[in-house]
This record gives sequence, C-alpha cells and structure tokens, in this order.
Amino acid sequence: MYQLSSQKLKAAHLERSAYLYIRQSTLRQVYENTESTKRQYGLKQKVLAMGWSEDLIITIDSDLGQSGASSEGRNGFKKLVSEVGMGHAGLVASLEVSRLSRNSSDWARLLEICALTDTLIMDEDGIYDVNDFNDRLLLGLKGTMSEAEMHFLYSRMRGGTISKARRGELKWVLPIGYVYSGDDKIVMDPDTSIQNAVNVFFLTFARTGSAGATVKEFNKKGLKMPIRFRTGIRKGELAFKPLTHSRTLRFIHNPLYAGIYCYGRQQIKKTVNGKKSVKMPVKDWHVYMTDAHPGYITKAQFEDNIKKLADNACAHGEDRRKSPPREGPALLQGIIVCGKCGKRMTVRYHQNCSKLVPVYTCQRDRIENGAKVCQTVMGEKVDEEISKLLLEMINPLAIKASIKVQNELAARKHESDKFHSQQVERAQYEAELAKRRYMCVDPGNRLVATELESEWNSKIRELEKLKDEYEKKKKDNLKEMAKTTRSDIIKITEDFASIWSSQNVSFKDKKRMLRLLIEDVTIKNDDNKIIANIRFKAGTSKTLDIEKKLPMCEVRKTRKDIVIQVDEMTENYTPSEIADILNEKGYCAWNGNLFNLRTVSYIIRTYGIKSRYRRLRDKGCLSLREKMLEANLSQAQIMQLRDEGKIVFYRVTDRIEYLYEPQNKGNYLVKIQP
Ligand SMILES: [Zn+2]
Repeated sequence: MYQLSSQKLKAAHLERSAYLYIRQSTLRQVYENTESTKRQYGLKQKVLAMGWSEDLIITIDSDLGQSGASSEGRNGFKKLVSEVGMGHAGLVASLEVSRLSRNSSDWARLLEICALTDTLIMDEDGIYDVNDFNDRLLLGLKGTMSEAEMHFLYSRMRGGTISKARRGELKWVLPIGYVYSGDDKIVMDPDTSIQNAVNVFFLTFARTGSAGATVKEFNKKGLKMPIRFRTGIRKGELAFKPLTHSRTLRFIHNPLYAGIYCYGRQQIKKTVNGKKSVKMPVKDWHVYMTDAHPGYITKAQFEDNIKKLADNACAHGEDRRKSPPREGPALLQGIIVCGKCGKRMTVRYHQNCSKLVPVYTCQRDRIENGAKVCQTVMGEKVDEEISKLLLEMINPLAIKASIKVQNELAARKHESDKFHSQQVERAQYEAELAKRRYMCVDPGNRLVATELESEWNSKIRELEKLKDEYEKKKKDNLKEMAKTTRSDIIKITEDFASIWSSQNVSFKDKKRMLRLLIEDVTIKNDDNKIIANIRFKAGTSKTLDIEKKLPMCEVRKTRKDIVIQVDEMTENYTPSEIADILNEKGYCAWNGNLFNLRTVSYIIRTYGIKSRYRRLRDKGCLSLREKMLEANLSQAQIMQLRDEGKIVFYRVTDRIEYLYEPQNKGNYLVKIQP
C-alpha cells in the first residue's frame, strides 16, 4: 500500500524526540569540508518544519572525525542505537543514510530496532517508515550501496598505492641520510656531514655489537646524530641531537639503509578488538627490492645486525616492564619500582657459593641514554624481609585478632542499633499521643487546637528525623562472622606458613602467591639501609627500613672499641697478656675465635698503635748494653740482679726481651714485671 510522507508521520512520532545525527569521517573533513557540516546542521530546519518543537530535537555530533566503517569507537552512534531501542526516538535524521553506517551489520541492526520501536528515518530525499516494505527495501539497498561504494573507494586507493610501490615509485618521508633526487629517485643526502654521521653510526655498531654500547660511545665522545623536522614551523630544518636507544633501534631495523626498497613491513589487520597494526614477516611484505638504491651497509650486514640485536635481547632478559613471574628466586621480580626515579627495575643474579643472589637494578636510563645506572640494590635482605612480613601478616594469631575486632565492632553496632530503634519507637508513641490529644480537643477552642496542632507537627518531624538517622546507620552493616567461616580462614592461614617455607613450592608459584597480596614494592638505597614501600592489593601500604648487609671487608674489621682497649693496654701489657685479658672479658674476633698473640700483634700493626718498646724507650728506659755502661757491670751481673729483683726492669714482648729503668730516675707507677 502506497503511503505519502505526511501519512507516515503520526502524532505519536511527534511526541517523541527527533535525533539529528552528524558525522564527518576524518578530522580533515571536519576542518575543510565545513559546507557539508553546515548542510547537516541545516537539516534541523526541515525537522522543525515537520512539526517537532525545538527542545525535542537532539543533535548527536560526538562522532565528528570518526569513520563510519564500523561502530567501534563511535559513541554517538551507540547512544543513538540505545535511544532508539528504548523507544525515545520518533525520528532519526541524517544527510545521507550512509552517514549512519557504512557497515551492513550495524545498518541492519539499526533498521531492525527502528522497525520494532516504530521510529522513522529521514534523509535529504525523504522520510522512510521501516515497517513499510518498499521503504525497507530502499533503505536496505541504500545501506548496501554505501558499503559497496566504500569498498570500491578503498580498494582503488589501496590497489593504486600498492601497484605504485611495486614499481618502486611510491614516495614517503625518508629517514635521515636519504633524500629524493629531482627525478624522484632515492639518493644519499648530498650533505657530507649527514653521510658521515650515518657511516660512523653503522661502524660504531659493527665494532661494539650492541645498541646500548653504541649510544654510550656516542655520548662519551659527544657525537650527535642529525635529525630533520617533519612537521611544525621548523619543517625540513636540520638539527643535531644526542643519540637515543630507541632511535638506534630504528636505524638498525630500517632496511632502507641496506639499499632495500620495501613496503608493507607493518600492515593493518582486523582482530577481535578492532583494527591493529601488525609487524609482518618478510615474505608477506608487499614489496621487497634489493639494490634499489645506494646503501650505507650491505644486505648481509643488515641481516647480521638484526640477528645481533635479537641475541642481545635474549641475553638481557625481558624483565623490563611489569612482567609475569619467572623461575628465578628473586621474589619481587616484575613488581619492583625504583624509589629514585620511579621506573621499573630489572633483576640480575650473581652466584654466591651455591645459591643465586638477586640484585635489583634501575638501568632504564643507562639503556636509553647511555647514562649511569640509577641505583643497584642487593635483593637478598629485601626478599627476606618481605617474606617475613607476609608470614607475620598471614599468621593465625593476627587473623584471630582481626576477626575478634570485627566481631566486637559488630556487637557494638548491634547495641547502638537497638538504642536507635527504641528511640524511634518512643517518638512514634509521642506523635500518636499528640495526635490523639488534638483529636479530642473541642474545635471551638481555637487557641488550644492551634497549640496542639503545632505540637503534633513537631512530634511528627522529630519522628521522621529519627527514622532517617536509623535507616542511615543501618546501611553500613557489619556482619558478625560465622564460626565455620572463621575456622576456615584460620585453617588457611595455618597452612600458608608451611606452604611458603616448603622446598617443593617453586619460586614461580611463590611469586604468584605474593602477587595476590602485593601490588608493587618501591625500593630506595639510603646510607646504611634500604627503604621499601609496599603497596598491598587491599589498598593499604607499609614502609620497611631494612638494614643493609655489610660487605665482607666491613664484617672482618676489628670493632673500634677493641682497638681502643688494645691501645690502652699496650702501655702496661705484652700482646699475649692483652689477648688473655680480652678473652677473659668475653670479647672475640669477627669469626668467633679467641684472641691470641698473633691477632693482637696484627691489630697493633694494622691500626698503627705505638708499640710497647717505643713507649718504654720514649720514657727513657735503657737496653741491656746501655744499662751495663751506666752501672759499669757485666752482662752476667745485670742478669743476676734482674733475677733477684734488685733492679727495675720491664718485659717488652713475650720473648726474653727486657728494658731497664735508669738509676737516676725515681719510682715508677708502671707495673714492674717479676
Ligand atoms: Zn631509578
């Protein structure tokens, strides 16, 4: 049955909103094709003329700059479909129906929903009622045509591009070192400084064999790489900038430098999550021409460089970003952040006796810019403390305590609930009483009636207020934990400790367990400690101060107080006597051994303590020969006097070595050796 436009439009449609859908597919069109946008807005006049009031016309233009090829990312279109689906729309207007969708499935869905909710569709050519067979056929055809148009356009453009590339005639922005000649051929940049820089770059890489080392060498020598601005006011201008790691990789990966002309290294592929740029293997490239233009390196060198990079990457490990747990023993691998610069830290291991010791390193800046390593933290102590913390947190006692606290809070809540409900009850009773009093009063007694009425009102207000408060308090309900749940939780925590310390659990599984509780850990080296900030999954955080493990040279050092005591005792005792006194006092060496003549002599020598001999000589004590001269006695006579204790003498060392007090000196307070 043929319908006129005016017959399609009914009063029911006019009661609902009219949706004006406006779209330009690219931002360029939005800026340059303003005429079309104006025409699209002009459609509003037509809708007004059809009888919709101004406030019922809703313009959807949030999709400006979005392609109509799919509904992906077009929020405006999605909103339109949902509004139509809910029956809010009486009319959907657009300049051409192809503006609504160039994708058959999206288009068919929209038509179906329009039919169900009796929504009209309008474009510049007229109004369509989807429930009318002819209109539906026409709309279907229009949708198909628009998709076909898009397909032909795209394939013509794409085919043109590819065939141009196959002939080697497709032009794009060339990397530094190359320019287009007058006849559009790729030639080396005539600027010799640029040519030199590129040559030096490839030579350096060939010599050092790694991208990082190349960056380092460039920065060390102060060499800079040329760069040409591609956009902005300085477009085409040349500048020299320090080489970065990412740029190094781009140089190495670009086949153009080996004289290879290629196209299609990255191709757009459709995936479940929409379109994505994918790196393709060489055999799937559209074009691959060797010796197409002069190269800075040969094809063999190019392939060799790529292989070197791949090998280096394996050696480095891929622990660079937040990464899945791996087999190594470093507990915090993949979730550790540098406390100095905020970048992810990497893990490396070193062998200590039979075990692997983790070392956390922040080396992003070193890789990228050849700078120094930001910080290196020995991981053994950190891992130990984190593991201790976990066991502390997940221990049955702590969990029992927190359950107890929660139950107590719940009990208190129950009490206050009861109190509030009683208050509400009382207020209800009082309001009821006030009402009854008001009802009983003689209507003639106006004065009393007014008074009672206001009292009744105030009682009702109070009741409402208390009821509200009660409801609010009731909302944040704390549930008392059931006995069974409680024992289950405690059982799990009891098992945790044994699982955690079990030898059979792999490091990978341990790390998985850790990640259920901890989001990440930020560490920073302080003077003699490591500060670790732990962020838990639950949103709380904790800071640990971890004592650093002393290096072996520090551990082996003799304690300062022992050195001082040795210094003091040298005044009066021989080294072996000092050793005995120290042992009696309970001191021992770093490895737990007792002191002896050798160790004490070593301390005296190493710490530059003045020897007993020197001290006695400085006080004027005489050697045997000097004493013989002074007393005018023979050696045997002196030794006899010494044995009889008739002269003052001192034992210098543990061997038979003595020094003698001169005669003219008075009494000494120094201990006299028998
Ligand atoms: Zn750092």
